Amino acid sequence: MDLTELWKAALGEIRLNISKANYLTWFKNSFIKEIKDGVAFIGVSSSFAKEWLENKYHKNIYQALTNLEPTIKKIEYVVAEVSNPINLEEAVEARKKFKLKKSNEVINQPMFYEMSVDQETNLNPKYTFENFIVGSYNELANAASLAVVENPGTKYNPLFIYGGVGLGKTHLLQAIGNKLKKERKKAKVLYVSAEKFTEDLVRAIMEQKMSEFKNKFRNLDLLLIDDIQFIAGKDKAQEEIFHTFNTLSQKNKQVVFTSDRPPKAIPSIEERLRSRFEGGMTADIGYPDLETRLAILKIKNQETQHLIPEESLYFLAEAIPKNIRDLEGGLNRLIAQARLQNKPLTLEETKKILSSVLNKPNEYISPQKVIKKVSAFYDLKEEEILSHSRKKELVKPRQIIMYLLREELGYSFTNIAEKMGQRDHTTIIHACKKITKEIEKNPVFAQEIFVLKDLLYNK
Ligand code: ADP
Ligand code: MG
Repeated sequence: MDLTELWKAALGEIRLNISKANYLTWFKNSFIKEIKDGVAFIGVSSSFAKEWLENKYHKNIYQALTNLEPTIKKIEYVVAEVSNPINLEEAVEARKKFKLKKSNEVINQPMFYEMSVDQETNLNPKYTFENFIVGSYNELANAASLAVVENPGTKYNPLFIYGGVGLGKTHLLQAIGNKLKKERKKAKVLYVSAEKFTEDLVRAIMEQKMSEFKNKFRNLDLLLIDDIQFIAGKDKAQEEIFHTFNTLSQKNKQVVFTSDRPPKAIPSIEERLRSRFEGGMTADIGYPDLETRLAILKIKNQETQHLIPEESLYFLAEAIPKNIRDLEGGLNRLIAQARLQNKPLTLEETKKILSSVLNKPNEYISPQKVIKKVSAFYDLKEEEILSHSRKKELVKPRQIIMYLLREELGYSFTNIAEKMGQRDHTTIIHACKKITKEIEKNPVFAQEIFVLKDLLYNK
């Protein structure tokens, strides 16, 4: 077996799911050292890279390799000197060749329990009621959601769940879908964000495919629409949501909405739609109390208990009161560091690691350092990044710098404009918004930013 070709092809496969920057950072200098008794030993250039591949990319690697070479059953990572870095183009080419060669053989793919989104329903199986912690702050929303699964389309229609960011709205919404689907295999369930719904609608109108669109959304047993506040000010989307809801509810089919605010507080929506939102059941999610936050952390720390002691969890739970996503992010950061140093964290270390998350850098970070690190990460020259070129590969890193200066250093927009040699500070506002949004939408990109922050604080 040609290990180099196999690995190149695997990298080509992996590349489909990760960004170029991450490829260059984590994969370029890797190779297959040997395959022995079904174990593939992947050589990487540093213990840091080893850590990242193990924790962040293992599933990708496993999937790609076992798909190409089913005799591989297990993967181990070792630090080793690399001789020939594999560039992107080579990887992409090798993947094509490999696929062609293999296409005549039946690949006996091993079962793979990746938590991936279901194509038909858009549901992610990781969101369940079983792993949703209930406290007084979300009791009502949880109970209403369970009631909907028990009696869909009758009792609470629509169910309208609202609450701040990172507090479990999407989790609950998806849990409703997953549970109904589990209990009634034939039920037609669809999860969609209001943004995606709107995009699909616009496309359907443009391509004159409205009957298909209506078919898709009006023949369901359960329609789950996330972040409905997005349709504020969007007339066509509002009209379509209104009629979709009417059609479904007349047939006793269930609709659930989530929103970051109550119906009354959504600006510029039609009154008839607002009254529909309020016409079923509304349930809000507040802020979790300290006990609940600790409970959530403990559950997520079950396998890493030996690394993250109770007092660290307590510190984290106290520090982040209003956002469970951030709470999880903080914990992940602690786990990554503890794994890296391979011994339990002390409270001091915990505080130090979290200082960046808590927006209180314990070390002064200069704007120059941000520019330098981002340039290096994307393999660009500082002058290039600071230029006014509109080249795509420059614009994004430039926006990331602006975002980091704002988020991590707390610089004002005008100040950032000055530092970046931009005349207009609205460019900075736009950049920060754009990056924030992409972080929310794209986990791979979010991770890239996470790596960058790490480089900024820890190296
Ligand atoms: P929202 O949609 O309200 O912004 P999410 O549903 O995406 O928030 O939740 C953010 C993260 O926090 C997810 O990983 C989710 O699984 C987790 N989470 C939120 N609430 C809970 C909870 N009560 N129990 C366990 N995990 C939770
Ligand atoms: Mg959400």
